[in-house]
Amino acid sequence: MAETRHSFCRICESLCGLEIDIDDAGEIEAIRPDAAHVETAGFACVKGLKQHRLYGSPDRLRHPMKRVGNRHERISWDQALAEIGAKVRALRGDRGPDSIGMYVGTAAGFSLLHPIFAQGFMNGIGSKSMYASSTQDCSNKFAVARQVYGFPFTQPFPDLDHVECLVIVGANPMVSKWSFLQVPNPGKRLREIEARGGRVFVVDPRRTETAKVAGTHVAIRPCTDVFFYLSFLQELIASGGVDERVVAEHTSGFEEIRALCAPWTPERTEPVTRIPAATLREMVRCHREADGAALYSSTGVNMGGNGALAFWIQEVINAVSGNLDREGGTLIGRGIIDFARFGARSGFGLRPDRSRIGGFASVNDAYPGGILADEILTPGPGQLRALFVTGGNPLITMAGAERLKEAFEDLELLVTLDILPNETGALAHYMLPATTPFERPDLPFAFPLLMGMQAHPYLQATRPVHTPDAEQRDEASLYVDLARACGTPLFGSRIAQRGLEWSMRWPGRDRRKAAPPSLPLEGLMSLVLRLTGHGSFRKLLREPHGRPLPPQRGGVFLGRKVPTPDGRVALAPPELLALAGERLETLFERERRDPSSLRLITRRHVKTHNSWTHNEESFVSGARETNHLYMHPEDAEAAGLRHGDLADVVSKGGALRIPVHLHEELQPGTVAIPHGWGHQHAPGLSVASRTTGVNVNVLAESGVDAVEPVSGMSRLTGIPVEVRPARGPQETTRWTGLPAPPVPDATPTAGPAEPAQSR
Ligand code: SF4
Repeated sequence: MAETRHSFCRICESLCGLEIDIDDAGEIEAIRPDAAHVETAGFACVKGLKQHRLYGSPDRLRHPMKRVGNRHERISWDQALAEIGAKVRALRGDRGPDSIGMYVGTAAGFSLLHPIFAQGFMNGIGSKSMYASSTQDCSNKFAVARQVYGFPFTQPFPDLDHVECLVIVGANPMVSKWSFLQVPNPGKRLREIEARGGRVFVVDPRRTETAKVAGTHVAIRPCTDVFFYLSFLQELIASGGVDERVVAEHTSGFEEIRALCAPWTPERTEPVTRIPAATLREMVRCHREADGAALYSSTGVNMGGNGALAFWIQEVINAVSGNLDREGGTLIGRGIIDFARFGARSGFGLRPDRSRIGGFASVNDAYPGGILADEILTPGPGQLRALFVTGGNPLITMAGAERLKEAFEDLELLVTLDILPNETGALAHYMLPATTPFERPDLPFAFPLLMGMQAHPYLQATRPVHTPDAEQRDEASLYVDLARACGTPLFGSRIAQRGLEWSMRWPGRDRRKAAPPSLPLEGLMSLVLRLTGHGSFRKLLREPHGRPLPPQRGGVFLGRKVPTPDGRVALAPPELLALAGERLETLFERERRDPSSLRLITRRHVKTHNSWTHNEESFVSGARETNHLYMHPEDAEAAGLRHGDLADVVSKGGALRIPVHLHEELQPGTVAIPHGWGHQHAPGLSVASRTTGVNVNVLAESGVDAVEPVSGMSRLTGIPVEVRPARGPQETTRWTGLPAPPVPDATPTAGPAEPAQSR
């Protein structure tokens, strides 16, 4: 071993500190958790510790590739940039700037500069046609925050150090960590709450890994979360749990909210949510009596079709109970800038545009992914004809894969920027090779850095710990060159474009012979640090385990800087009230009359993060080479299925065929399939394409009627399905819903202990 370097993982929000052994050839030999890290203190998961194997895959994109017929052929950077630039210029001139779109995937969000430069590229083109993975899993939170708190990135989070009653709804931190919030080792943190006498409730259709570690599991029928929240609020108000002073001084709209929740007593919602009224009252009592309480939710709520309404009521509960912006309740993080003020001045995240198809408001300056296929396939002014896909794989992660594939094949230009040739890349006219997180310098990404979403704030800088082996480039540099090639200066500023181009020629840049020059990334991040009074990047590197920042505290938001027009938390925004008026009674009646149909939830496997870690052999070997349909034994028996049988799963959106895995920890009436599978159409992924798992998202509907109107979210969980023994001609949706073989060693009994997964 030549040396050990320190860095941090950029796969999920935990940002675990890592120690990385580098051999004499400069290759990564081993990765360990950094025990001395100021926050993550020796915590990391298997994905983080084996990520170098993913990056070192022989399948890795190494050169720009151009599709010729059904194959991709290596071309030079000059050729790629010239041809892409010429096409963008032509489309922009003939069809207008909005004919050129971009989809920003989750991987982009874990880099500080990548999303900024991607947005800058689109600003330069003058196109509003932005799409993001957030409308698959979290846009409801941004849409609601904009209306309730005045800024989409104002996202309160539980004060885990002091909370005495924590209610977790549709989230599984043990596997997925805390979405948005940087906090490692979730099991330890949850057990600490109980050790100091606090209560934890886990509301979920499945007894998740989180529910097994701490707290009381409260089983709920999928997609009835909004009625749980309404009854919680109704009972809170009825039992005197409202902080009258906070409501009077810092909020508006309480009377409308009181009227809204009044009909939703725990007894009324019990038959639909399946949560006994007595259980709900006990939860409210604990919440009311706690000296600091918080409700927290994630994808199970977000993705269920009513995420905006549910999250809204959750935030109302946190506010009217007096727990918003106080120790032990929910806190507003302080990033290295006043992000809300920046947003108000720049308009960032507040674009007022509406989509051509469906008239959806943009959320965080992006339109719903659920209408992307329609925007491509529907003729007329503004029809999408070109798409850049940056750090994502929408063909696997979005609803309606078949129609999306048809749409992508109809594009005149499809370009991917990625580290691997995934399904979307397989259809792309050009695949441009990007660097991995280990091949670029970085600071923590936007949520911790700009929004302050860290339980214990700190700063950390990392240099690259590995040198790309060919022509891969960091995305920020790539967007500068793409902007030049397209004749559309980055951020719409010729001065910025010239300055950035000039900086790429400055001595000391990436001088690999094969790759074009890169931006001085460390210098750019140093500028961010210096402008915010945090010294230089180089100075921060001298603290390889992180530099602690002042702790989070309450009392920084209410009455001080709530960015709504009247400086108060808006409990009853008109748009959300109207949506509630339109939907709640109809939805409730539909649920009440449909007590027995099966609902499909999605889940995450601890080794298969979203759609992109299936190309590492050790993550998908043996019994893990497919996903399964998890069923309660009672449901399986009723459907005539046994453990290991193949089942056909049919929804309004599509159909798939998949092996059954009996699982007693699901609430009867709920079935589950892990998402992110279905890689048989990515010939460039030599490992993932041999797995037999199916893409659960073929069961989800896309299009205008399937999109939640306030947030633009697709419904990707809680989908009504029929499940029956596989028979006859396969009903499987053709694309990425391929059949999987029976599970080896199938037995007719309940399955073995569940591997760690979450929805
Ligand atoms: S929990 Fe795992 S994937 Fe997430 S940052 Fe830590 S090591 Fe990486």
